[in-house]
Amino acid sequence: MKQSPNKTKSISIIGSGLGGLSAAIRLAHAGYAVTVYEKNPTPGGKARSISQNGFRFDTGPSLITMPFVINELFESVGENPADWLTLNKLTNLCRYFYPDGTILNAYSDKEKFAAEIEANTTEKKEALFKYLEYCKTIYELTADIFLFKDLYSAKTYSNLKALKTLFKLPKIDSFRTMNEANRSFFKDEKIIQLFNRYATYNGSDPYKCPATLNIISHVEYTIGGYYASGGMYSLTDALYRLAVKKGVKFNFSSPVEKIITNGKNVKGILDGGKEIFANKVISNADVYSTYGKLLNDSRSSAAKKYNKLEPSSSALVFYWGVNVTSDKLDTHNILFSSDYKKEFEELFDKKTYPTDPTIYIYISSKFSPGDAPTGKENWFVMINAPNSTSSNSKDQMSNEKIKDILLTKINTLTGYDIKDKIESESVMTPQDIEDQTGSYKGSIYGISSNSRNAAFFRQSNKSKHYHGLYFTGGSAHPGGGIPLVILSGKITAEKLMNSE
Ligand SMILES: Cc1cc2nc3c(=O)[nH]c(=O)nc-3n(C[C@H](O)[C@H](O)[C@H](O)COP(=O)(O)OP(=O)(O)OC[C@H]3O[C@@H](n4cnc5c(N)ncnc54)[C@H](O)[C@@H]3O)c2cc1C
Repeated sequence: MKQSPNKTKSISIIGSGLGGLSAAIRLAHAGYAVTVYEKNPTPGGKARSISQNGFRFDTGPSLITMPFVINELFESVGENPADWLTLNKLTNLCRYFYPDGTILNAYSDKEKFAAEIEANTTEKKEALFKYLEYCKTIYELTADIFLFKDLYSAKTYSNLKALKTLFKLPKIDSFRTMNEANRSFFKDEKIIQLFNRYATYNGSDPYKCPATLNIISHVEYTIGGYYASGGMYSLTDALYRLAVKKGVKFNFSSPVEKIITNGKNVKGILDGGKEIFANKVISNADVYSTYGKLLNDSRSSAAKKYNKLEPSSSALVFYWGVNVTSDKLDTHNILFSSDYKKEFEELFDKKTYPTDPTIYIYISSKFSPGDAPTGKENWFVMINAPNSTSSNSKDQMSNEKIKDILLTKINTLTGYDIKDKIESESVMTPQDIEDQTGSYKGSIYGISSNSRNAAFFRQSNKSKHYHGLYFTGGSAHPGGGIPLVILSGKITAEKLMNSE
């Protein structure tokens, strides 16, 4: 069979996170010889799977948004997404439990959600509809430039729509914080807290980040929230299998030690003491460690610029196999704190675990019964944590202390006393996130969006300083979260192909 000319062009990808897989699939399909080096024994990075005592857990992400981004990846390489993965729309996006005992279901049917809000809070239906229209406007103005395109290419701004966006700054609401904007639409503290929560979808603080991030509410309520049959790992597994089908070679348990350079030209990588030459290198590792460890270049201007940016928040996750069937809980549940502002001050200013944390509980066995033995459930219980890996220091609460707080709060707000019902347990701390995925300070979404200009400071997908080096994943453009890292892989692959 005649080989495509590009087969002579070799690409090394460091990391098999979803961003790395997205780039690998597209480049292999285009005919490049792609090899992925992954330090873990399995693919997925933050989106892996663990099994313990008959329970299976997704390690990190649990909610899929913007499913068209996933579908586009399959379609762009001539595949039917339905042959690989089943994505299902959630009817209830999340069940919210408030400290005063109020329970609110965020139904994906907007009329039903509005009726739920009117029945349980002092807010009127119309306030919700007006708010979601406003979120839609921001999305329509910004998504093309900030999410789908290469922010750093002049071409992105050459069309009329992009130029118009730049002149419609008040409409994209970047001068108010998310909290200020949400307060202008709602009076009920419960609804303000509910919509402020969307800042955490990219690891930011609603009292600091620009209201432009209200596009996240549009993405969830108007485009929809989804789950993958079999759990989130089905997505990782589907992308891995697709990459293999396209000819991508994988080396697992292969921590890359160095990116080999000759001056400012990238020549390949060092893996297990062996020099492997490549025409191009794509780093799916955190940008911070790419400069600091892989390039040994923390003193360059690019590294210094990046190091000044604030990482996103991290997470503390308990994986509990419980001997309970919880009819009062849904797949996604939030148990809110009583003082949201204080929670974010603790997270971002004091860099401590919140004393009264908002708790997120995700139970995949509700839709994927194989994830837990009959009559039992797999509870993924997560709180936001500071971007700090000093969690073992005296100043931080111990995991045991936090566990006590969580068990008490779960009992108070949901009525489930599970203290003696936990059959199996493991924990993931910010330090574990850094150790397992290389994310600086355990950040889960790259850099935070707590400043108005954060989007412009993210690492561009093609290095300006090293010829032949590219970046993809949550710490590069357009940022963290599943759809964004898959788009990151797309932008990186396109940039690489266009530079040939
Ligand atoms: C607890 C948690 C909950 C989350 N919830 C959601 C959610 O509900 N929805 C959502 O959309 N997103 C969520 N996210 C974010 C989402 O998981 C990430 O944005 C996304 O998976 C990151 O993909 P990535 O391409 O940046 O790669 P990563 O997942 O960061 O993977 C990078 C890979 O590179 C490898 N690597 C690093 N250095 C080296 C080296 N030197 N050599 C070889 N390999 C190396 C790592 O081992 C890793 O496999 C969550 C994340 C976490 C942790």
